[in-house]
Amino acid sequence: MLSCKTIEDFQLHERRILIRVDYNVPLDEEGNISDDTRIRRSLPTVNYALDRNGRVILASHLGRPRGKPEPRLSLKPVAVRLARLLKKEVKFAPDCIGPQVEEMVNDLQPGEVLLLENLRFHPGERENDPEFARALARLADVYINDAFGTAHRKHASTYGIVQFVREAGIGFLMKKEIEYFQRALVDPRRPLLAVIGGAKVSTKIGILEALLKRVDKMIIGGAMAFTFYRYLGWPTGKSLVEEEMVGVAGRILKQAWQGGVKLYLPVDVVVAPEFSPHGESRTVPCQEIPRDWMGLDIGPASVTLFEEVIAGAQTIIWNGPMGVFEMDKFKHGTFSVARAIGRSSALSIAGGGDTDVAIHEAGVTDQISYISTGGGAFLELLEKGTLPALEVLKERGSKP
Ligand code: AMP
Repeated sequence: MLSCKTIEDFQLHERRILIRVDYNVPLDEEGNISDDTRIRRSLPTVNYALDRNGRVILASHLGRPRGKPEPRLSLKPVAVRLARLLKKEVKFAPDCIGPQVEEMVNDLQPGEVLLLENLRFHPGERENDPEFARALARLADVYINDAFGTAHRKHASTYGIVQFVREAGIGFLMKKEIEYFQRALVDPRRPLLAVIGGAKVSTKIGILEALLKRVDKMIIGGAMAFTFYRYLGWPTGKSLVEEEMVGVAGRILKQAWQGGVKLYLPVDVVVAPEFSPHGESRTVPCQEIPRDWMGLDIGPASVTLFEEVIAGAQTIIWNGPMGVFEMDKFKHGTFSVARAIGRSSALSIAGGGDTDVAIHEAGVTDQISYISTGGGAFLELLEKGTLPALEVLKERGSKP
């Protein structure tokens, strides 16, 4: 996969470098940027192009406007924050295509930055419309995709554009994501352990099956575990069980047995009568969930078991919480697993959904080898081993 070209392979001096970045940042109720991590993660690529005297044009989406301008989803505040981080002026275009934008691009001097308005203000972005892709491509001599978070989408700015530009490759963030993925899954130090949690088996079947072919050990926690309990004939009370996935759970267990993968389920469970942060709760052994209670976290014996499994791994991939970590009473399992992964000297990679939030709250961000910037993209990469935005670049031309 790393065979696609990277920004280092191109002549950038005085050329127009269109970088597809992921500035889909969270906004608070007043429209302020509440977390600028995604902007910071783009800086190595942006600075590299600027240092080589490129004319830098940045394109991104923000939120989900329905194919038309929505002022509250303008990227204007991102231009302000980016200027502060880069310590230089960032020009802002009121649109992302069209004559006015082309004029602004033509006026852009080497070493200057122009951020385009939200790509999704045009329906053509999500529809991968060739005309829209061509209009974007007109702005670029070199196209660089550094938006890992949207690399699983076939959108005009991540996919369609590639056929219309002369030179195309990936930026440093994308490169780093792929490198860690390869170190973890393609050529890992073993034992390789996957820790998978979260709410539903149905959203993770593909990942579970793909990982089973590669890992030595797998931990399954979160509500997902109860669908496995059901298959095993253990009582689940009012816990979240996906009835239609019980057969799939059985298939996964058999695949693990046949493939020699050691699969661990929670051996005890923290249960409560209601899905609520208040009220009663207690710990019960895995086969003793009372009829009117539901499992909302893994228990202390499971934590000890999982800690031992984690301590024995050389490479760890983690996605999904062990319980309802949003409620204080049920966060212990997830945070303990996060800390155990943090303590381990294994190469550890985490990502997808709430996992980065849990890591952050557990205070172990610096102890995880790599936290992916992509939610859906991370999960799809685990499942399929590649992403549309990378495939299209690979088709366009790989390194000699
Ligand atoms: P996912 O997006 O599939 O990774 O699921 C994450 C969600 O699963 C989180 O919001 C957790 O609160 C939820 N979750 C984890 N364990 C449980 C559980 N035992 N019962 C209900 N929800 C859970």
